[in-house]
Amino acid sequence: MTETTETDVVILGAGISGSLLALLLGRQGLRVTVVEPKPAVGTKGADFVKPRGLRILAEHGLLDGLGALRRATIEFHHDGVPLLSYDFAEHTGLGYYCVVPYAELVGAVLGACAELSTVDVRFDTTLADVRTEGPVVTGATLSDGTRLTARAFVDSSGSRTPLRELIEPSRRAIGYDHGLWMATVPGTRVRNGLYFSSDRWLAYFYSVTAELTRVFVGLPVELEEPVFLRRSPDLAAKLATFVPDEDALAGLDVAEFERAPVSAFTSAPYHRGNAVLLGGSTFGCHPMTGQGMSYTMEDATVLASVLTEARDARELDGLLERRYEPRRLVHERLVEYGDGLARTYHDRDAYLRAHDAVLHGGDV
Ligand SMILES: Cc1cc2nc3c(=O)[nH]c(=O)nc-3n(C[C@H](O)[C@H](O)[C@H](O)COP(=O)(O)OP(=O)(O)OC[C@H]3O[C@@H](n4cnc5c(N)ncnc54)[C@H](O)[C@@H]3O)c2cc1C
Repeated sequence: MTETTETDVVILGAGISGSLLALLLGRQGLRVTVVEPKPAVGTKGADFVKPRGLRILAEHGLLDGLGALRRATIEFHHDGVPLLSYDFAEHTGLGYYCVVPYAELVGAVLGACAELSTVDVRFDTTLADVRTEGPVVTGATLSDGTRLTARAFVDSSGSRTPLRELIEPSRRAIGYDHGLWMATVPGTRVRNGLYFSSDRWLAYFYSVTAELTRVFVGLPVELEEPVFLRRSPDLAAKLATFVPDEDALAGLDVAEFERAPVSAFTSAPYHRGNAVLLGGSTFGCHPMTGQGMSYTMEDATVLASVLTEARDARELDGLLERRYEPRRLVHERLVEYGDGLARTYHDRDAYLRAHDAVLHGGDV
């Protein structure tokens, strides 16, 4: 008979939310098993960590040594004309935000997890099955044959899993009429420039490391195939009509771009019994907010305190209801904000009306 291992919390997904939760729980002495189907942390183009997230990283000793680029402004342009200069020193207490590639950020958190004997991170592994008694998950079997029991099971995978099926959250999905493509090119930029056009294109250029620049291009969905697959019209020539920066456009190669997902959703509830959703399993906001990870890191801290405090299943359910489920209101506001930006960026005045200094910098 296969042996059953007893742990405290099983977490699906070693993304930023799952790995941070594992670290916080592990540091409280809880035994954690993290299940990640990929062989390593992936790249996503989620590079911006804004003040809300930076505070959490600093609080847990994860910011120093991260090698993040510190930035103070984002310059917005519309049809080649300056639209807005968002200054973090003006709008936030911290005064800056950071750019750090997703894989490096998550790698730093997992590196800290590796120092704890109580955290077991398993790559190339999936959740094969869960066992339940009423609303309580009593155990799980992993694809490597390991059988686990735990007090709580957290799904931070952002995908369809047996845990999500148990919770059965209702989802309100939001679709967009533009697609987003991403490339990483050599070169550096001192300022982060975001360019919009009235015909629904956008381009975003920012240094992601000391040697590399990330480029995002957004365009109407009906143009994705002609531009990125058939290469007609010419991408650089089109961008030149609203990006007044020849250096940024020099050497851009369509073949280097890959499609980035652009969608948003809200969901409810976030838990059932001792099965809990986290991060990309609970909400998705338009990438234009640059805030998904920062909010998700806050969620991980709230969930960690609940999981640490709860002494039994009943108390866990109550604490999740009172302290964790209300995070939905914060998420819904962010999703709505991102939606406002995504629907107005082509319209100068409407975008300025939609732009909110507090939500964009997110210090409070
Ligand atoms: C193009 C783009 C740009 C973005 N830019 C930013 C930004 O600049 N700043 C910002 O704050 N946010 C940004 N976001 C949002 C950010 O990516 C999310 O908020 C964040 O990734 C959510 O973290 P997570 O750990 O919950 O999920 P993810 O980062 O999606 O991690 C989920 C993990 O679960 C794993 N997994 C998948 N399936 C399973 C399974 N069945 N079982 C177990 N594990 C599984 C995955 O492999 C992955 O490792 C961006 C999003 C997009 C799409």
